[in-house]
Amino acid sequence: MIYLDNSATTRVMDNAAQIALNAMTDNYANPASVYRFAVDTDRKVEAARANLAKALGAQPGEIVYTSCATESNNLAVFGVANVHRGRKRRFITTQVEHPSIFETFRALDAMGQDVVFLGSNPDGTVKTDQLASSLNENTALVSVMHVNNEVGAINDLGEIAAIISRYSPNAVFHSDGVQAFGKLPFEPVPAQLYSISGHKFNAPKGVGALMIRQRVRIGKGLLGGSQERGIRSGTLNTPGILAMDAALRHYIENGDAIRAKLLKCKQRLMELLSTQLGDVYINGPDINQGAPNILNLSFLGVPGEVLLHALEERGIYVSTGSACSQKKNQTSNRVLEAMGLSGDRARSALRISLGMYNEVAEMDAVAAAIVENVNRLRRFGR
Ligand code: PLP
Repeated sequence: MIYLDNSATTRVMDNAAQIALNAMTDNYANPASVYRFAVDTDRKVEAARANLAKALGAQPGEIVYTSCATESNNLAVFGVANVHRGRKRRFITTQVEHPSIFETFRALDAMGQDVVFLGSNPDGTVKTDQLASSLNENTALVSVMHVNNEVGAINDLGEIAAIISRYSPNAVFHSDGVQAFGKLPFEPVPAQLYSISGHKFNAPKGVGALMIRQRVRIGKGLLGGSQERGIRSGTLNTPGILAMDAALRHYIENGDAIRAKLLKCKQRLMELLSTQLGDVYINGPDINQGAPNILNLSFLGVPGEVLLHALEERGIYVSTGSACSQKKNQTSNRVLEAMGLSGDRARSALRISLGMYNEVAEMDAVAAAIVENVNRLRRFGR
């Protein structure tokens, strides 16, 4: 099997799985309890929190653990909206966000808030001139993703933060960092809210985090026993948190080598495909511009879904877009159409997303399977 759907989810690192198992079968105390057995677990969780905070350029008290990035994104958007409840405010996002942001903004729109969906450049980055002209004194929140999950476009968060502080200094800036975390070098995040998800970087499913800068006012998510500073009650998922920390440590120590290998795989695959096939187009940024692990390609004349299943027959797993939209039989049309791609290009799009367990040598077999199937399906199509 060659797994090339790492933007949907990743294989958990052995070490992280081992740590999760230990936190379930040996060190299973509730970190909120007061005896020593629990204090040890609490100490480990706080060390993990400090480590994650450092990777984001934040303070430990600015990290709130969640169950996934969908929850982090909902908490960010509805948390800010709750602070402004009863008043009509402007909420700005983009047309190419993951559904966990797009749908929350649509919900705000249905509630009567003033919602703006910014357009996308042809490469999948946000139109910053539209952002500048949409910001006003009434703006409560701007949410722009760091790396686009379908095409790998990288938004310049520093530039976006500067535009927001120039035109709307009181607005809160959130960024969905799910596909950026670990795939770009760790740097202090210039946003005030930032979402991440463990299962996208070789930790288990069911754990994520939201960075909330100290001075940001935000409504509570889950109410209950006041864990996570009262913002997100609920017993902490210690197996998930400690496993996510193990994965993060691996990325901190080996990130440069991982990213270099991802980029090599991507370049090799593209080189093979572009020399052996005609009518192959990259959807998104140029090969060396976007995230090192995401390659969205259209093989004109071949529906993405048909090619996906043909590759599946060979044990090669790819996707046609985000996992959530595929199941609903929507291809990535919303995102690709916002980028201005034609229906043909969108229908024939395939997302190849690499992970740290992929090897450059595997790309030859992947390219051979794609070339053979595209040629066959094109002949068939004619
Ligand atoms: N945001 C982006 C950009 C994603 O790619 C995903 C998952 O595909 C999510 C949010 C949702 O993450 P989770 O599965 O942790 O809810």
